[in-house]
Amino acid sequence: MSASSEIRVPDIGDFTDVPVIEIHVSAGDEVAIEDPLVTLESDKATMDVPAPQAGTVKQLSVQIGDRVSEGSVLLTLESTDGAAPTESTESPESASQASVEREPAPPPPAPSPDGAGGHDAQVVVIGSGPGGYTAAFRAADLGLKTVLIERYERLGGVCLNVGCIPSKALLHAARVLADAEEMAEHGIKLGKPKIDVDALRDWKQSVVGRLTGGLAGLAKQRKVEVITGVAELTGPNTVTVGERTVTFDNCIIAAGSEAATLPGLPEDERIIDSTGALELPALPKRLLVVGCGIIGLEMATVYDALGSKETLHVELSNGEKHKFDGILVAIGRRPNGNAIGAEAAGVQVDERGFIAVDRQMRTNVAHIYAIGDVVGGPMLAHKASHEGKVAAEVIAGHKVQFDARTIPSVAYTDPEVAWMGLTETEAREQGTDYDKAVFPWAASGRALSLGRDEGMTKLLFDPETHRLLGAGIVGVNAGELIAETVHALELGSDAEDIALTVHPHPTLTETIGFAAEMAEGTITDLMPPRKRARA
Ligand SMILES: Cc1cc2nc3c(=O)[nH]c(=O)nc-3n(C[C@H](O)[C@H](O)[C@H](O)COP(=O)(O)OP(=O)(O)OC[C@H]3O[C@@H](n4cnc5c(N)ncnc54)[C@H](O)[C@@H]3O)c2cc1C
Repeated sequence: MSASSEIRVPDIGDFTDVPVIEIHVSAGDEVAIEDPLVTLESDKATMDVPAPQAGTVKQLSVQIGDRVSEGSVLLTLESTDGAAPTESTESPESASQASVEREPAPPPPAPSPDGAGGHDAQVVVIGSGPGGYTAAFRAADLGLKTVLIERYERLGGVCLNVGCIPSKALLHAARVLADAEEMAEHGIKLGKPKIDVDALRDWKQSVVGRLTGGLAGLAKQRKVEVITGVAELTGPNTVTVGERTVTFDNCIIAAGSEAATLPGLPEDERIIDSTGALELPALPKRLLVVGCGIIGLEMATVYDALGSKETLHVELSNGEKHKFDGILVAIGRRPNGNAIGAEAAGVQVDERGFIAVDRQMRTNVAHIYAIGDVVGGPMLAHKASHEGKVAAEVIAGHKVQFDARTIPSVAYTDPEVAWMGLTETEAREQGTDYDKAVFPWAASGRALSLGRDEGMTKLLFDPETHRLLGAGIVGVNAGELIAETVHALELGSDAEDIALTVHPHPTLTETIGFAAEMAEGTITDLMPPRKRARA
């Protein structure tokens, strides 16, 4: 028996006449409960209207571009179990389009490895960096039998072992030294610091150890089998690790990247890459840092604070001659796509070692996925971990894709520099119009009380809709502050939303609110830009 019912727009708050921007179903489609039917977009947010009940779509009553309000009929649904669909009275699942469209009620995981497939694992993950361990843990949490293969004893990849975490521990030490020096000018004289490099190295290593040890424990709790050794794909469903062969239904390649080398440089212990630099070898009196990317700048900040004065960053071949006691090569990173036997599985890898994927992180081989540094885009840990979740969820049958509006970047230098969304340079290149609002930290009580008033917070807005397009922040803790602007961008916030958000005082977060007030012309802590222009 079947019964038809009209599916109407549920309670969407104060919004009326909102356009339908996407229709996810056609007549004849079968839908499960909570499947998205249509997407509506108000000037504040995008919202999916989910199916209140499983059934078959009989007839659509709207088209893309139609404007609807609460109660408007969207479609007719014939329920499969005979019961009339309950009228959807709840607000749409999400008031905004977050980075990933999530399916609230996931279908059961793919067949058991001991079942029809007969493979050892439903998911094999190659590499245990932030991409790989996140993917493996999410897959296990979704009920999939998961094997994680890592060539090193310690889990965590570059990020935890020789990247983000140890570098930030040393940058914190650098900051403490700089704080002590700066406070000497303000009446607190602590004397010349004594640096015990061995103790500093031990502390940094203990931070790494706590995190990597924690990962091993989490893998065990989730019953993720960890195999230590170099993984090599030997076919579309097989990977070998030494003598052992593991068969899989699905594979996630999360093999990451390694430091690029500079051809022509001799083997010499005084020539190091970022991994060597984080080991804190004997501090060179004069260190040449080759490469002015984020990693080079951060390492230079550390060595400068520890006493390697006259640290110099150079662009290659600047013509001048200098003498140094050590060279740190930080000229970028090379993806590891060519070192995993991808071709045996039919996975295409480009000549640089990158693996192309779609928004569900699938490679050209449908059951083999790739995530993180090995797929390109910004080589950042937070991108890798979000991609890892998407890959695991897609394998588990969720209708999700990686759809972040922006991936924020941070240089943990002193001062920190953080940015997200559209930059002014990109806007100019693309011919995109924007309004710019800048709040100088010299007018921030918090920045002044920290003795760090050199910063600034810049927001870019769409001149028509006033929606946030991008942000750039320079100053202490810029890396923490940028998160608010990322959130605002994902939610489609405009200048008024940010300006009317009450920020705690005195904090550096206020500078974001103040920048939005500059855009709105409501700032009182400075003269509003328009009035100043008229004066
Ligand atoms: C000094 C430094 C500082 C950084 N700071 C930051 C930062 O502050 N914020 C940020 O977001 N990013 C930072 N990064 C970048 C960040 O570390 C990477 O983007 C991130 O680690 C990528 O994660 P991933 O999972 O793709 O790969 P990775 O972390 O590179 O992990 C890949 C793993 O795969 C393993 N592997 C590779 N091939 C095989 C194989 N055949 N068999 C078995 N295992 C294999 C590797 O051993 C490794 O453990 C920094 C990087 C460096 C070098």
